This record gives sequence, C-alpha cells and structure tokens, in this order.
Amino acid sequence: MSYRPSVDNVTKASSNEKEGLYEFIVTMVDGTACRVFFHRDPEWRLTHISRLQRTPCPVCRKDFICKCMDRFSGEIRQQIDHGQWIEKALAQ
Ligand SMILES: [Zn+2]
Repeated sequence: MSYRPSVDNVTKASSNEKEGLYEFIVTMVDGTACRVFFHRDPEWRLTHISRLQRTPCPVCRKDFICKCMDRFSGEIRQQIDHGQWIEKALAQ
C-alpha cells in the first residue's frame, strides 16, 4: 500500500444546508478524483468517499468501482482540514 493521496483541489458539488449534507469533488495531484460526502452536524465529518471513474484507481488500477479510497479517507480528511479546503470550497 504505497499509494499516498495528495489533495490538490476541492470543489463543492452539491449541498443540502437544511440537512447539513455536503458533497465535494476532491482532486488529487495525480489526477484521481473522488466524490466525498460530509455531514456538518454536530461537527464536520467525512461520511462517504468514492472514486470518480474518470481515471483508473491509483491503488488497484481498476477502471470500475472499487473500495480502495475508503482506506485513505482518514488521510484525505486530514489534508482537507489542514488545507482548509471546506472553507475554500464553500466560499466559491
Ligand atoms: Zn482500487
């Protein structure tokens, strides 16, 4: 498991403010893109991550659905926090 995600950009895809649900598209420096769901209440938490099938999975190389990115959700979450990406995405 030598893959290490590196968040390059985050954009908001959709949100339901009333429910506190947010969907972001997270792009990595290697071009891998993921759909990442957050719940805002009571605090921001990552609830689901799935890779967009634009490019093969950087871990298993499949070009269809796989669960690999689940293993990196903690690391990706940390990078999103450190980069203050949610604030930036919501300000767009
Ligand atoms: Zn995979």
